[in-house]
Amino acid sequence: MCGQSECCGPQTNVLLYACSGGANVAEVADRAARQLMSEGLGTMFCLAGLGADIQGMVQTAKDAEMNQVIDGCPVDCARRIFERHGLANCRYIRVMDLGIEKVKGARCAHDQVDKVVAKAKEVLGPACKG
Ligand code: SF4
Repeated sequence: MCGQSECCGPQTNVLLYACSGGANVAEVADRAARQLMSEGLGTMFCLAGLGADIQGMVQTAKDAEMNQVIDGCPVDCARRIFERHGLANCRYIRVMDLGIEKVKGARCAHDQVDKVVAKAKEVLGPACKG
């Protein structure tokens, strides 16, 4: 697992997952994960592969220094997948916990993505503020 003090150098073994569902908050989760990847804070990995029990992908998640998981809403689809696989090297963020509403038919906004990215940096470690 990634230690707070050392996790903010080049994080080549931090994997980023988003629930990436159909809701606006899932879109926020997805875009935030991609933004974190583009800033070099980890590599986005396929949650669907874990959900499908693809053993090589489950092993990759097990071997990761940390899996940063972003769910949109309290259904916690991504978190449940990680819990089902018994993976402990994870940190979780839920978009709705940051005051972002789940609204049917809405698209996500840049400031919402920024909010989740900032939260992820906080979770990843104090030196990850960018
Ligand atoms: S966690 Fe919520 S927003 Fe994300 S895929 Fe599941 S139901 Fe949709």
